[in-house]
Amino acid sequence: MSKSPYLDIKKDFPVLNREFDGKPLVYLDTAATSQKPTVVIDAMDHFYRESYGTVRRGVYRLSEKATQAYESTRHKVAKLINASSDREIIYTRGCTESLNLVAYSYGRSVLKSGDEIILSQIEHHANIVPWQIVREMTGAVIKIIPCNDRGELFLEEYRKLLSPRAKIVAVNHVSNALGTINPIKEIAKLAHEAGAVMVVDGAQSISHMTVDVQDLGADFYAFSSHKMFGPTGAGILYGRYDLLEKMPPFQGGGDMIRQVTFEKTTYQDPPHRFEAGTPSIVEVLGLGVAVDYLQSVGLDKIAGHEHALLEYGTKLLSGIPGVRLIGTAEHKGAILGFELDGVHPHDIGTLLDMDGIAIRAGHHCAQPTMQRFGVPATARASLGPYNTEADLDALAAGIQKIRGMFHH
Ligand code: PMP
Repeated sequence: MSKSPYLDIKKDFPVLNREFDGKPLVYLDTAATSQKPTVVIDAMDHFYRESYGTVRRGVYRLSEKATQAYESTRHKVAKLINASSDREIIYTRGCTESLNLVAYSYGRSVLKSGDEIILSQIEHHANIVPWQIVREMTGAVIKIIPCNDRGELFLEEYRKLLSPRAKIVAVNHVSNALGTINPIKEIAKLAHEAGAVMVVDGAQSISHMTVDVQDLGADFYAFSSHKMFGPTGAGILYGRYDLLEKMPPFQGGGDMIRQVTFEKTTYQDPPHRFEAGTPSIVEVLGLGVAVDYLQSVGLDKIAGHEHALLEYGTKLLSGIPGVRLIGTAEHKGAILGFELDGVHPHDIGTLLDMDGIAIRAGHHCAQPTMQRFGVPATARASLGPYNTEADLDALAAGIQKIRGMFHH
């Protein structure tokens, strides 16, 4: 008998053990945000009760301790993604802020009129809108890598877009609407050959697979704590140090300066140059505990678990008449976007919720992706390492029930 591909960690997540109207919660919206394990909740609670203080400023023990904990997360994150140094890890408030930081600081300072930014058809708005704002400021041009009907990028088309005018290529590692895992290593290699830098939106990959920024060839890699079992309000931007060193500040304020006079201000070296103001101290600490948790479960095991569930769920949903899966890439993360014939995605979401099943319905902050597939919205079930086959059985039964309601 072969070994089960499944983890058994639902018990680590208190909210997943609660019920709605006597029905167990079936949480299928991890792509929006992940639930939190007890270890993260307890560590943050403990810190507030026992050790809370500001970081990098205090001379008293509470602050020194807080600073140590705060900086140790930086080291954990650097190890997690195989950055070559802790100095390449910048704390932000989330993936969105990380991408804005790259666009405003790097993009705005290097782009000239006519330079090109290459994005893909299947980006989240967080990796589209900042570039459009920078386009307005610099006169740069945005080009788009198209995708096929499965949601896979056309690399041949991408090759054709690349020229010496291309300065930035910004693509997500995994699409939040379709689940497509993009071949970042190949995309980065081609970007570098053209002289462009590679920006990766890692919001949907970081807690689902092993990420090695050096092996991928990512010059920047952005993600949020809240999608990796940590709290909201913290995020990371990884940046190659030689690029960070030349970049101007993103925001000005306390902690990012060396010296301030009214005539002239000098800035800290990275990463502190990009960390103005009192940071999300406790959230960063929680992120550190989340990274420990991720590594104790094991990213390879998580990937195996989610892949097995994805196959199981794909089979279940494709077997339901009237269901059309949107996003059927060969290399896919555990995201099931779908339509049900004659039923609006929002109705699917509301009706499933009555059975305690939480999915997302809408455009998933990826309207250009929806436009590509000719739909205004989809229903989306997204999985995490705490989900089970029983969760997917509940989803399939819920969809069958809705079909019955609409097709009589
Ligand atoms: N990129 C992708 C692919 C996402 O899925 C998300 C979150 N839905 C983001 C960026 C933005 O992340 P956040 O809202 O945490 O800043």
